[in-house]
Amino acid sequence: MGQPRHIVIGAGIVGMMTAWALARRGLPVTVIDRLPGPAELCSRANAGIVSIGHSSAWAGPDALPQLLRAMAGRNPGVKLTAPFDPALWRWGTRFLLNCTGAAQARNTARMMRLAETARAALPEMAQELELDALIRFEGGLYLYNATNEIDAHDDGRLTRIDPDWLAENDPPLARAGFAGGFLSPMDAAGNCHEVTRAAAKALSAKHGVQFRYNSAVTGFSHAHGKITGVNLADETLPAAQVILAAGVETPDLARPLGFAPDIYPVKGYSGTWEVRDQSRLPRHPYIDEAAMLAVASYGGVLRVTAIAEFAGRDRTLREDRTKVLTDYVAARFGDAVSDAPPVLWTGLRPSTPHGPPFLGRVKAYDNLWVNAGHGQLGWTLSAGCGALLADAITGAANGPREVSAPARWLMPL
Ligand SMILES: Cc1cc2nc3c(=O)[nH]c(=O)nc-3n(C[C@H](O)[C@H](O)[C@H](O)COP(=O)(O)OP(=O)(O)OC[C@H]3O[C@@H](n4cnc5c(N)ncnc54)[C@H](O)[C@@H]3O)c2cc1C
Repeated sequence: MGQPRHIVIGAGIVGMMTAWALARRGLPVTVIDRLPGPAELCSRANAGIVSIGHSSAWAGPDALPQLLRAMAGRNPGVKLTAPFDPALWRWGTRFLLNCTGAAQARNTARMMRLAETARAALPEMAQELELDALIRFEGGLYLYNATNEIDAHDDGRLTRIDPDWLAENDPPLARAGFAGGFLSPMDAAGNCHEVTRAAAKALSAKHGVQFRYNSAVTGFSHAHGKITGVNLADETLPAAQVILAAGVETPDLARPLGFAPDIYPVKGYSGTWEVRDQSRLPRHPYIDEAAMLAVASYGGVLRVTAIAEFAGRDRTLREDRTKVLTDYVAARFGDAVSDAPPVLWTGLRPSTPHGPPFLGRVKAYDNLWVNAGHGQLGWTLSAGCGALLADAITGAANGPREVSAPARWLMPL
């Protein structure tokens, strides 16, 4: 048996940023993943937008009509494919309880505090691990087709922009006919898969972080309210502290330990096109608010993502869903991308009913922590959540409080 190490379970963007935050504080860290490399699940082909301007809770009074339209099959962005899934009923009940205006304000405030921390931590991480070239810190856009929609969403938080601004700053978006919308100067964009992989290399080289791939965690050894070891198929790794960052599979790891984080897999789709003419593509990452699509271009590709589908853990690529992406790109950017077929993908967003992730220590164990349930904002919040958790683990908690989703089993940050 070696010396106990800080063990992060999950090598997605959330686990990787947790490992970064712990390792830079001089702690010995091992990251474990059941897959052959980092960022092979939800962190693989997301939109890549560091979406500080969209850091708000979905559950709220506006979500109810959206869900009713989805139940009637009339919502282009939200699909209900497994309506009888018992896990969805449990999650859905809590989601509905969070749909009051007061709950939404509380959850959104938590997410905004997380986003502010994240926006400070992300450039720090990029600079320290020398990943600056992979992330573009030039802001992001939230665009609408009509002025009255912009008026309805103007809460004064973001900078309002009009077609003249688009014509001057991002001509391909002016040509696409948007009426304008909002600029979030704090947003950024970068390929989450590439960043996670590059971070793993840098963490190993600079901080001696150890990685165990192809290694599913099968359980835990524990005694007197402390996790003593993390069990793999044929060995047990001695643990100082353990962090669960296993995305939608976090509840599977937690259940045998006596608690169940309420995280539902909300399925999304992406398409990735090789770029033929970058000058015809938007410079800024953006959300098309009417079409409910996210669009970003980096590293010679165009990435478009859409759809929140409640389908359990099914990862089937449905053609009727991916057609939304391919039709959008053909109509707007067909002359800018190569004729080669796009790479299509689905991912399961690990979503809490509240909006913010579960972040904190598990009450029943002195050294077990959770950093999971980041929903549609895992890339955005990852560096900040990692930093806050590492502060809490080392007792240096300087950051904001009341950032986590609440749960009976959790001492939430
Ligand atoms: C279509 C789409 C678009 C998105 N766009 C954006 C965006 O623009 N901006 C943004 O901020 N977010 C976006 N997201 C959300 C973001 O991708 C997720 O929140 C984020 O990837 C979650 O990261 P994670 O590390 O928690 O989970 P994952 O990336 O899923 O990683 C979890 C890891 O845990 C491992 N694991 C699980 N169980 C075990 C076990 N027993 N033993 C060992 N390892 C285990 C898995 O193998 C996996 O590698 C999008 C998501 C989707 C689906």
